[in-house]
Amino acid sequence: NAEPVTRPIRTTCPYCGVGCGVLATPLADGGLAIAGDPDHPANRGRLCVKGSALGETLGLGGRLLRPQIGGQAAEWDDALDLVARRFQDTIAQHGPDSVAFYVSGQLLTEDYYVANKLMKGFIGSANIDTNSRLCMASSVAGHKRAFGSDTVPGLYEDFETADLVVLVGSNLAWCHPVLYQRLAAARDARGTRVVVVDPRRTATCDIADLHLALSPGADAALFNLLLAEIERRGLIAPDFTAHVEGIEAALAAARETPPFSTGLPHADLRRFLDLWTGSEKVVTVYSQGINQSDSGTDKVNAILNCHLATGRIGRPGMGPFSVTGQPNAMGGREVGGLANMLACHLEIENPAHRAVVQGFWAAPRMADRPGLKAVDMFRALEEGRIKALWIICTNPAVSMPEADRVARAIAGCEFTVVSDIMAQTDTTRLADVLLPATGWGEKDGTVTNSERRISRQRRSLAAPGEARDDWRIIADVARRMGWAEAFGWDSPAQVFAEYAALSGVAGALGGDFDISDHADIPEPDYDAMEPFLWPQSAGRRGGRFFHDGRFHTPSGRGRMIAIRPPVRRAADAALPFVLNTGRVRDHWHTMTRTGRAPRLSRHMAEPFLELHPQDAARLQLAPASLAEVESPQGRAVLRVLVTDRVAPGHPFAPIHWTGETGPTGRVSALVPGLTDPVSGQPASKSAAVAIRPF
Ligand code: SF4
Repeated sequence: NAEPVTRPIRTTCPYCGVGCGVLATPLADGGLAIAGDPDHPANRGRLCVKGSALGETLGLGGRLLRPQIGGQAAEWDDALDLVARRFQDTIAQHGPDSVAFYVSGQLLTEDYYVANKLMKGFIGSANIDTNSRLCMASSVAGHKRAFGSDTVPGLYEDFETADLVVLVGSNLAWCHPVLYQRLAAARDARGTRVVVVDPRRTATCDIADLHLALSPGADAALFNLLLAEIERRGLIAPDFTAHVEGIEAALAAARETPPFSTGLPHADLRRFLDLWTGSEKVVTVYSQGINQSDSGTDKVNAILNCHLATGRIGRPGMGPFSVTGQPNAMGGREVGGLANMLACHLEIENPAHRAVVQGFWAAPRMADRPGLKAVDMFRALEEGRIKALWIICTNPAVSMPEADRVARAIAGCEFTVVSDIMAQTDTTRLADVLLPATGWGEKDGTVTNSERRISRQRRSLAAPGEARDDWRIIADVARRMGWAEAFGWDSPAQVFAEYAALSGVAGALGGDFDISDHADIPEPDYDAMEPFLWPQSAGRRGGRFFHDGRFHTPSGRGRMIAIRPPVRRAADAALPFVLNTGRVRDHWHTMTRTGRAPRLSRHMAEPFLELHPQDAARLQLAPASLAEVESPQGRAVLRVLVTDRVAPGHPFAPIHWTGETGPTGRVSALVPGLTDPVSGQPASKSAAVAIRPF
């Protein structure tokens, strides 16, 4: 019986950082009817195929429904007692830095807040990092270098009012589909020019006036050349750059960039420079193709430099724009889910900031230095320096670079706890204790999308089996560790109210992240909360940033950074291909949810390798044959898809698939654990590989 049993419940999609509003209507048969929320500003009723299939992913098959200890069903009290005791014993014996939490941009803000408070304020370590490190840490670092704060300057509506939208390392059509639809509609209505900068000819190129198939990793060189052109054409905005420092050094570095360093035909490069410099209203959108690089932060700053030099920032239709991969990557940034940040955008290395947070939390043992970032955290696990690890809402044995090595490190850890909604993932199989968590549709909380809009996720289904909300599980462990008062909330509304109050204290120090209008918010108001842009505090309401030349650096000025693009090494003869990794349209992360909806597998049914016809001929790989792809880190076997979407020497493979034995579609196993030196973000976009018939 698919009759509705209540009115639609307004909630938010759990997938990408567009953050679409969803109407979920409970049905008499226990399912949910799904529709786009016409009143949500992010999507105005639209949903992509992943969002619209949410109702097909809700069955209980494969769900983790009871706690487990050592693979055996257990009582909640026993499991929580054991987790608290083992963490306490480890800390007592080896110190606070011997334990770690690895969390997720799919957690709700309330979950994130509680985990962060426990680790940084009570355990006294900053060893909490998130899979958002893999997604956008380089954007955070770039923002902080340029603006002095992790503030996204613009809004989604800028995509619709710009005259030119440049998409760099972003397959928006597949990875942020509703934002792509908004851009495509604006292009139809007002003739917006679109440029796609990507080594691969992606689906996003369907609406592009120009596709720049630059050499992999040449993005910083491209934007340096643009900056030099901006200067040459006299487009530097002196009124704005009066509020910016570092301009001379940035220009000097830009002038030194060789014009042939992008690998682009001269005519294409010239057309791009003409378009960008000739369009005042320009938005430069960037995503994983920029962030997931060993020079990702420099690439981000090369883009920001061009907007700062021209003053095209924080004004309608103008600005740089980082689109985040996950539904709550932004919430994680705000709440301090990264190992090098405190809550509410406060700095862990700033004694005044630490004192404010410690005072607010009445925290007994405050972390006073950054913790281990994701790649380093799993290395510390491998080396035995981390002895107890709690993985929450993520599947690092598939998604981390060097995935095989990470899986071995987790297996070798003295004590591993995994909280998840699914019983059998590559990571849950390695756990000593499994804790069943509620998933999308079963829990209440908030998320922040890529334009700083905070929306409610609302419960529309009962929790299955014995599953509990993540914030409650973490608070229950904290109470058992002796901190009952500080973790004594009864609802996510109470957690959010505390977090909003802390943001007011942070806002008083001058930060942008301030949602203190919601401090001490009553339960009914939390239930009824409409999506809103931050900040939202006395006298401050959303909007755009930095158009007024006010920044958060110590000098109060914006900062341009001198970028010297790396010189790419020649390919290793034994590893002659540079594999490009990415997503497919209809699957999400490691497919633990989208893999449950058969129609989402119709688009791309199995792991594949896009290979240029010249490479396929040379390797004697026929279409639909199997290729073995090998790097020093691991192996994968993939179905060959011969296409000129990719350039010779630069095949592509998606990241979603796994497998239990032997070489599989687990592409992250091929990726080396290289990281950006500023942000610590892994260079997951590329791996040097050899390819042969399987
Ligand atoms: Fe969900 Fe992103 Fe699709 Fe919107 S665009 S429905 S947020 S996956």
